[in-house]
Amino acid sequence: MKLSDLFSREGLSLSFEVFPPKTDTVFESVRQATEEIATLRPAFMSVTYGAGGGTSRYTLDIAKNIKERYGVPTLAHLTCVSSTRETVHEKIEAMRAAGIQNVMALRGDIPADVSDAARAGWAYSHAVELVRELKSFGDEFCVGGACYPEVHPESANQREDIRYLREKVEAGCDFLTTQMFFDNNLFYNFLYKIREAGITVPVIPGIMPITNGNQVERAIKLSGSLMPQRFKALVDKFGTTPAAMKQAGIAYATDQIIDLFANGIKNVHVYSMNKPDVAAAIQQNLSDILG
Ligand code: FAD
Repeated sequence: MKLSDLFSREGLSLSFEVFPPKTDTVFESVRQATEEIATLRPAFMSVTYGAGGGTSRYTLDIAKNIKERYGVPTLAHLTCVSSTRETVHEKIEAMRAAGIQNVMALRGDIPADVSDAARAGWAYSHAVELVRELKSFGDEFCVGGACYPEVHPESANQREDIRYLREKVEAGCDFLTTQMFFDNNLFYNFLYKIREAGITVPVIPGIMPITNGNQVERAIKLSGSLMPQRFKALVDKFGTTPAAMKQAGIAYATDQIIDLFANGIKNVHVYSMNKPDVAAAIQQNLSDILG
């Protein structure tokens, strides 16, 4: 199923993100966790892709397994930064052969130690180029792009970020998924601005349940997200008590999702991080709302 069909439907939906194993030794445990999440029957599941080779090997295996064994639509991520055109084309052909219909087209992060000279030789500079290549197959792929309510860290300002986002959408993105955020008002402001800039595709907010005090610093560093006072207080109070932090983090994410649904958003994506218990708890909290 193409996600564009899902997003055009009435009704509220929840989807979950998982990441593939980094090594062969944990493949089985990761596969099991992703299958447990699939049994929750989310609207779809996305499977991330490691830039620079990291965890890219198994993205397709995990996405195919979820789709074929559980009938859950999957969204396979693909990054292009530091990849050759041949590698990217091989990945695209492998996705076609596996019947993957939904692809998240990403640039990927630029490794810290890479020189400008090396970068100048790369085949791809931005995600927009990958979007164009995927769309050269006509409507075979439903293509997603990333967007940043709090501005991508490399952008000079939001106006510039939105200008490039519009270019990416015009290249063929069928929908956008946001970076995590902890203050819904930032998302509403962003949505207003991109609609004003003429971007009309569905925008799926990405919500990260922070269930572990140690996760906070890394999540904030990766995303550049602001921590609202209400969220800070919760981490200060419960961050060192694992069970309490987990309960509080799930409640905070649930509250964000309810507010999004109450304000007209139909589809929310949860960065469930291979944690079936967290995904199940959020889904259970929303059982009557999701209907
Ligand atoms: P781009 O759209 O290329 O944007 C990157 C920067 O370049 C922005 O500042 C943008 O404004 C600017 N820009 C865009 N086009 C141009 C242009 N033509 N000229 C000049 N500047 C331009 N990373 C992974 O490695 N694997 C994953 O699976 C993964 N999944 C993600 C899922 C989501 C929903 C999000 C939000 C991020 C994900 N990331 C993932 C992280 C992502 O790869 C990084 O945030 C990366 O730094 C930017 O990727 P992008 O696709 O947004 O890049």
